[in-house]
Amino acid sequence: MGKCIVCEKTTLERVITLGFHPLADTFLKKEQLLSPQKMYPLNCLLCKNCGHLQNEIFVSGEERYVESNYSYTSSNSPSAMAHWDEFCETVSNFINLKPNDTVIEFGSNDGYLLKQFQKKGAKVTGIDPSPVVAKIANKNGLYTICDFLGSKAINTATKKNGKAKVICGNNVLNHIENLNVAISAIKAGLKSDGYLVVEVPSLRDTIQKYLFDMIFHEHVSTFSIKSIDFLLRKHGLYIVKVENIPYHGGSLRVFATPNAKLYNKSIKKLIVDEEKAKLFAVDTYKKFMEKITRDKNNCLAQLYSLKQRGKKIAAVGAGARSNTLLNFYKLDATVIDFITDASKHKIGKFTLGSNIEVRADNALASKNIDVALITGWNIGKYLIQKIKKINDTVEFIVPGGKKLL
Ligand SMILES: [Zn+2]
Repeated sequence: MGKCIVCEKTTLERVITLGFHPLADTFLKKEQLLSPQKMYPLNCLLCKNCGHLQNEIFVSGEERYVESNYSYTSSNSPSAMAHWDEFCETVSNFINLKPNDTVIEFGSNDGYLLKQFQKKGAKVTGIDPSPVVAKIANKNGLYTICDFLGSKAINTATKKNGKAKVICGNNVLNHIENLNVAISAIKAGLKSDGYLVVEVPSLRDTIQKYLFDMIFHEHVSTFSIKSIDFLLRKHGLYIVKVENIPYHGGSLRVFATPNAKLYNKSIKKLIVDEEKAKLFAVDTYKKFMEKITRDKNNCLAQLYSLKQRGKKIAAVGAGARSNTLLNFYKLDATVIDFITDASKHKIGKFTLGSNIEVRADNALASKNIDVALITGWNIGKYLIQKIKKINDTVEFIVPGGKKLL
């Protein structure tokens, strides 16, 4: 079973099994439907030493971001953009960002967040391994190094603009297999009064809200406060503040600095709270698996019944999480007529594994569909408002008792 990617111990136990899954953030062109598709087992291991949850099988970073047609863009919805705007304001105020301070973002994607820091006068550098998104960012005047996060990329970044006042990465650390290499590089690139600010999906929210679809091959791991605290302290970074934010169904926003004197003493209490909530108990995951399996069967029964009555069903929101859901539920184009998404990078392509065509929102008109399965529950309220303007007779189904955000 290998080692924990945080504490490097072998104290791992398999606690989640979701079947075989392809990459979740990759979509296929029509002609690629004639080629074989790679599927990997999607299982998660819990580390009993540091409380980290990680995938059992790792798909190489090269395959995930460089070779594949990786199609996530961070400015892909109004709610995402509002989130990045708020992030920039909150971080700038918290660290008292000054013009000409250096900001490095890893996993900077199309550069939407960097642009906000640039507007505040910061010298910005992006690091992203996907050539597709790095090209978009560079074209928009946001200097972006097309590489994985590591000492080479950080050295290139600091050579250009000096050590960083802020290094940030949102929903990125959880994509990285070599966490110790990454954090060590970050530490070397930070000024002594600099801050690392990261957002990662929260293990507590993932488990307590049954967000199994936040697990996919690109998400190598899910952090507890215990495991991120362990990882950062190991490299001489100390958590000053940790916030629970609603993004992606529940994320941790962590501020850490090299100054040990600023370490927030309440972190220890938060870890005790996680233990009291049985977050590190194997039995918790057994109950999690039982509940998501029950939800799956209920949802399938509902969809099959609608289909037998001749209803046309579309899924709404072709995000990575939708692909986990479609593949765990084993849904394909025999049940789901098509899936919609606002991203022009996805429209006209097909979902991996389930091979469902992605269409634009206007396909949701009443002549085309009777039922909308809200796979994009994380922006579900926004999607429902949007669909109601296109189709006022559609019936909505939210999979697996998910709460719409
Ligand atoms: Zn561990």
